[in-house]
Amino acid sequence: MNNHQTRFGDVPLHIGGEAYPSASEQWIEVTDPADQSLLARVPKATSAEIELAVRTAHDAYLLWREVPASERARVMFNYQHLLKTHHDELAALLAQETGKNLADAKGDVWRGIEVVEQACAIASQTLGETMGNVARRVDGHSWVQPLGVCLGITPFNFPAMIPLWMFPLAVACGNGFVLKPSEQDPLTPMRLAELFAEAGAPKGILSVVHGGAEQVDALLAHPDIKAVSFVGSARVGGHVYRSATSQLKRAQCFVGAKNHMVIMPDANKAQVLSNLVGAGVGAAGQRCMAISVAVFVGSAREWIPELAAEFAKVKPGIWHDPEAAYGPLISPEAKVRVEGLIEAGIAEGAECLLDGRFCDVPGYPVGNWVGPTLFRGVTPEMRIYQEEIFGPVLACLEVASLDEALALINDNPYGNGTSIFTSCGAAARKFRHEVAVGQVGINVPIPVPLPFFSFTGWRGSFYGDLHAYGKQAVRFYTETKTVTERWFDEDIPSGPNMTIQLR
Ligand code: NAD
Repeated sequence: MNNHQTRFGDVPLHIGGEAYPSASEQWIEVTDPADQSLLARVPKATSAEIELAVRTAHDAYLLWREVPASERARVMFNYQHLLKTHHDELAALLAQETGKNLADAKGDVWRGIEVVEQACAIASQTLGETMGNVARRVDGHSWVQPLGVCLGITPFNFPAMIPLWMFPLAVACGNGFVLKPSEQDPLTPMRLAELFAEAGAPKGILSVVHGGAEQVDALLAHPDIKAVSFVGSARVGGHVYRSATSQLKRAQCFVGAKNHMVIMPDANKAQVLSNLVGAGVGAAGQRCMAISVAVFVGSAREWIPELAAEFAKVKPGIWHDPEAAYGPLISPEAKVRVEGLIEAGIAEGAECLLDGRFCDVPGYPVGNWVGPTLFRGVTPEMRIYQEEIFGPVLACLEVASLDEALALINDNPYGNGTSIFTSCGAAARKFRHEVAVGQVGINVPIPVPLPFFSFTGWRGSFYGDLHAYGKQAVRFYTETKTVTERWFDEDIPSGPNMTIQLR
């Protein structure tokens, strides 16, 4: 195969602020999830290329760390402006390689831009602390300094937002950065890197390398990589966390999810139905904050048939179709996996009110389509409850009380996001206080925090201490240096002895 048979040609690496064609002999095909046509080929970077990418970022960091924070912030202002100017172009590119509809693709870019806006305010976020006279004529102060080169490993499902969670803040803090984006949709991250260079980021401060497990392992082992940010599946995230920390590196790994929405009988029914459809099947359910379990409390279960009717109206389609509610799954393998789980749900005795297998989108016969799928009568023992499906599949459970709903959620290994729909303040307060999940929505189905907060998944959805973006990410990408300072000057009269006698 050669360049001419793909829509976007061979994807280069990004080293030294520009495209760097790979000499690799191993390439991965990037396909259009709607029709399987070849979009591009992406290389598995060689070890020499990985070495060059890290070394270049490290050399750039040695100069960049001396640049005043206000000047670093100016690059971020430029970058925010460029991303906004190229917002629609980025969204169209992202939609082609992920299959997301245009509205979702725009949201993906926009949520990333918001993190760049946080990076514009880096100076005030990296102030140290001071205290005079920590002992007599001794002062204490702390300084916030960058770490060196940080590594980002990102998943397929948000190829703009998730890289933008990482490198703008890390670089604004004074670090170099190496990004290893998903091999399934590398085109958008590459365009983000080009625009970063165009915004005035110093040459080399951001490297992008491509590949899979082997390249990730080589990067994790590199002595100049000081911190690792990972977003992806629990299986890979566990490996990355263990590998990074066993090599005494700082790591934060955002992994899988099984997000429950609790529906109380006093909730606004129209809001519940429309929000469950959007949160359950939007982006084909390929969001780590998607709602995949609906827990109906008491008489709220009577709304399930109406929910099925709403689900039946939802139609997937091609990214530029304004009527398409969502797009195809990312790959044929993902479609086979999701359809296998639907089959397992039926075999294990759940009632399938709407079966998304055999989904047909006219004009795109070989796309990775799965239609909206709704189960009721699901129990915690079933695979469709236990496993992250990452598809447009919603499992409905019925319980008698809010306490029962809370026990269910708190027993689940994952703790990324959850929500409750109710008109009762006391129920909402109890839920907010007792639920062991890191991101909670009250009448908000997908409670993704804005960047003045941090993205705070808990338990099996997150390995590490400090979370993504917000104040926590600034701490993750920096080190605190504490100085205790005393000056001797015998010529300065010391004045009366003010020692206070404590009894
Ligand atoms: P994935 O784990 O397959 O891949 C993530 C990254 O790891 C990719 O860059 C990939 O190339 C790399 N990788 C794959 N196998 C590897 C291996 N054996 N060793 C080292 N690196 C490897 O994830 P995905 O399918 O791209 O993304 C979907 C998953 O991401 C879902 O589980 C979803 O819940 C999760 N996710 C979580 C969050 C969150 O914030 N918690 C956000 C988005 C996605």
